[in-house]
Amino acid sequence: MSVLTDLVAALDSGALKVVDLTQPLGPETPVIGLPPIFAASPGVSMEVISRYDDKGPAWYWNTITMGEHTGTHFDAPVHWISGKDYPNNRCDTIEPRRFIGPACVIDVTDEVKKNEDFILMPEHVVAWEKAHGKIPRGAWVLLRTGWSARTDPAAFLNVKSDGAHSPGFHKTTSELLAKDRDVLGVGVETVGTDAGQAGTFDPPFPNHATMHGNAKFGLASLCNLDQLPPTGAIVIAAPLKIVDGSGSPLRVLAIAPA
Ligand code: MN
Repeated sequence: MSVLTDLVAALDSGALKVVDLTQPLGPETPVIGLPPIFAASPGVSMEVISRYDDKGPAWYWNTITMGEHTGTHFDAPVHWISGKDYPNNRCDTIEPRRFIGPACVIDVTDEVKKNEDFILMPEHVVAWEKAHGKIPRGAWVLLRTGWSARTDPAAFLNVKSDGAHSPGFHKTTSELLAKDRDVLGVGVETVGTDAGQAGTFDPPFPNHATMHGNAKFGLASLCNLDQLPPTGAIVIAAPLKIVDGSGSPLRVLAIAPA
């Protein structure tokens, strides 16, 4: 198929570039905090099995432990109670075609600079579509907020006396994207796909409830969204094939015009 040889040629010539939308994953990776009545997700821990030593003279490898939803990660529909009964709703059963789609990048960096609790409303989506065309079916909608510039974990999680503060989606926006635009899912730069204050919303965590309630996906803790055009890139986001997995850390790659 010439489209595939053309793709490789364009990557080799530099006409297309690969953009890594993934944060480093390690013991320093910040994890979401929940109210203490709920079970917490552990951070990343790594333990050496052997490193060219008595335990393995010629090889190096580690044991890693973490929650499924750690660092740059994928949310499967089964992650949320609203998505628990869909067929093929978990990491090992999702149809792999659904990991790949065109990227629609909505840039609200300026709004978030003014208001760290910025909520994306349907009007913002409609205004973006006036400029860039209608969001196609099967797209990844990526919310570019500039949040990944917060490299200090405390600033990234941004927890205050009344909980976390970070941008997210209004329920009606998630409904528009999931039901009407029929997207693959949404991706964000923050620790989760809901706003920091979304536990207080009605319903709580409306983006999770709505996206997964419509068998859609989530991508959290993305970076380098500023290297993507509003349209014209493709995102490949395939979680580990964890049996009965609710999500997984993953490497999110975009192919974009250089
Ligand atoms: Mn998650």
